[in-house]
Amino acid sequence: MPIKCMKCNKDAIIFQKYSGMHLCRKHFIEDVERKIKLTIRKQYNVEKGDIIAVALSGGKDSIVLLHILHKIFSKRRDVEIVAITIDEGIEGYREVTLEKARKLTSELGIRHIVRSFKDEYDKTLDELVAQERELGACSYCGVLRKSLMNKIANEIGATKLATGHNLDDEAQTIMMNHLGGDVERMIRLSPPRALEGLVLRAKPLRKVPEKEIALYAIVNDLPFDMSECPYAHEALRGEVRDMINDFEVRHPGTKYSIMRGFDKMVGILGKEFPQASLTDCRVCGEPCTAELCQACKLLGRS
Ligand code: SF4
Ligand code: ZN
Repeated sequence: MPIKCMKCNKDAIIFQKYSGMHLCRKHFIEDVERKIKLTIRKQYNVEKGDIIAVALSGGKDSIVLLHILHKIFSKRRDVEIVAITIDEGIEGYREVTLEKARKLTSELGIRHIVRSFKDEYDKTLDELVAQERELGACSYCGVLRKSLMNKIANEIGATKLATGHNLDDEAQTIMMNHLGGDVERMIRLSPPRALEGLVLRAKPLRKVPEKEIALYAIVNDLPFDMSECPYAHEALRGEVRDMINDFEVRHPGTKYSIMRGFDKMVGILGKEFPQASLTDCRVCGEPCTAELCQACKLLGRS
């Protein structure tokens, strides 16, 4: 006999070990959306005239993020949502996710901006990685994508920038910083404050586990791509992910505990590590803490 939803007695589609709840399709969707709305409210107020830029890769997280933000804000005429996709130039991978991103934005009638590393930096990520053996692909990709995303968000006058980091991503990043002993960097991960030149960032999915994001995308029939970036195996993140997933199976709620502990630390240590003041990079003009931004350093610009 199928297990029943604990809220309505319909057939359950998920068991949340960490909460002890069996939920049907309707109540599962409600639960995911409730967590996301609460997170948005905690991170910032959406105000009249806001332009919310959404980093849309075409993977499940960003597809769910755009779908939900559209669901929440599309009735508000005083708020605009704009999707931004960065094409890093990863052969055989980005083309597929880009197609999913285009499909969703056209279905929802959302303005979609696509820009590439090739246009911006004159090289694709594949070309950069083939040339420079010093650092892994993710180091280049992460820094350059973040910089370009902020630049585009500023160009379109965005007041907020939402990214699709989920609970698993957050727990992994926190744990990686713990393992590296990098407290300062960890505190800088904390909910951002408004800084000149940096569009205010938010992570509305940070309280939803990755598996639930995938299930939400499936039950809502959203067009997302499951393929993995060919460079993903390089990252230390994979090892940390397996370790945390193993703990989560044996001790349900571990991922939430890691995040809760981090949020408490930020409350206590935030004053010890005040946000560094920003200046304009002397080459590209993007905000940074030194004379030259990370992106320009990686590209060998001087
Ligand atoms: Fe970029 Fe690394 Fe993510 Fe691939 S896995 S998209 S290289 S950050
Ligand atoms: Zn620069």
